[in-house]
Amino acid sequence: MPPSTILGYAARAVGQPLEPFTYEPPQLGEHDVRVSVTHCGVCHTDIHAIDDYYGITTYPFVPGHEIVGYVSAVGREASGLKEGARVGIGWQGRSCMRCEWCLKGEEQLCMDIVQSGTWVPYGGFSSSVIVDSRFAYPLPEAMPSQVAAVLMCAGVTVYSPLRSYAAHPSPKIGIVGVGGLGHLAIQFARVLGYEVTAISSSPEKKEEALAFGADHFIVSDDRTGMRQVLFGFDLLLCTVSGRIDWELLVNTLKKNGRLVLLGFPDVVLNSTDLVAHQLSITGSFIGNRARMREMLSFAQAHGITPAVELMPMSRVNEALQRVRENKARYRIVLVNDTVGVGI
Ligand code: NAP
Ligand code: ZN
Ligand code: ZN
Repeated sequence: MPPSTILGYAARAVGQPLEPFTYEPPQLGEHDVRVSVTHCGVCHTDIHAIDDYYGITTYPFVPGHEIVGYVSAVGREASGLKEGARVGIGWQGRSCMRCEWCLKGEEQLCMDIVQSGTWVPYGGFSSSVIVDSRFAYPLPEAMPSQVAAVLMCAGVTVYSPLRSYAAHPSPKIGIVGVGGLGHLAIQFARVLGYEVTAISSSPEKKEEALAFGADHFIVSDDRTGMRQVLFGFDLLLCTVSGRIDWELLVNTLKKNGRLVLLGFPDVVLNSTDLVAHQLSITGSFIGNRARMREMLSFAQAHGITPAVELMPMSRVNEALQRVRENKARYRIVLVNDTVGVGI
């Protein structure tokens, strides 16, 4: 393989296992940096995209958007980052910087969001990526790379709504799903002063959920346990994308309560409950750049630490399968064992 070639892992078609894939380095734009990937987390969004759940995936598709690595090339206008700097990169690798939302500092809502993903053209299951330098975040020196990687997507995605929607001085929250996002949400929520109930389909996760900081644990299929928390929560953070008993779940919200959707489940809701209890339903997408920087400092200051399983990147298909089967505990981070092969 010529030294200028990048080695990644790509799905060639919908739902297919990833295969080694070599490609020419994309051109470095004025504001861009090239980053040699050392670590990349496996987010469930990668799997949805491999399966083309969003209807926007183009193949060959190289997933991966919880990236840590070292800057290896810097565009002419890319100020603030030097070669050799360690940076983190999340789902968003660029934005138009011109639309109403970018101008308001809500870059995650950019009108050109489909082209803003870090995996355009190719993502972080790879020897290197190119992103706009304004979406490559210098990391706290003492933060281990596998920790930072998970914070870049799972971390900011749960931190952002926890900051935005704490309505009361000591709010009660239900966190639905104890996976990559959920186990971090428990940790952040605890530090932010919430009384935390983890709601999980996996009874065996109880001890770990309590160790992450949950005050209570309920098995979602346990109708008796769920009925005990009717009208119990100010906020529900839903991180699952599978089957949910929506009626039961929504009735655990207090009047005026809010359900925040982070995962992508099929939602079937009874309008009577929503109207009569004055409930709000909100989607929440990653976080803007300011939130990302704030989250990194907050996580470092409060010792927020994802539970990580490290695996070599060459075993990416095994990692994806573990996530599909809900077996990851609680985030798999791929360590690049192809460094030195490509650029
Ligand atoms: P994950 O690690 O796989 O965790 C999801 C959790 O959902 C599982 O651990 C499991 O928790 C629960 N679950 C319930 N039913 C399930 C089913 N049928 N299949 C798999 N899991 C099921 O996923 P993640 O990386 O945390 O991502 C969670 C969701 O958030 C995904 O839909 C992902 O695409 C989305 N996401 C959204 C954003 C955003 O910006 N909004 C950012 C990142 C990810 P229990 O065992 O405790 O039930
Ligand atoms: Zn993600
Ligand atoms: Zn924009």
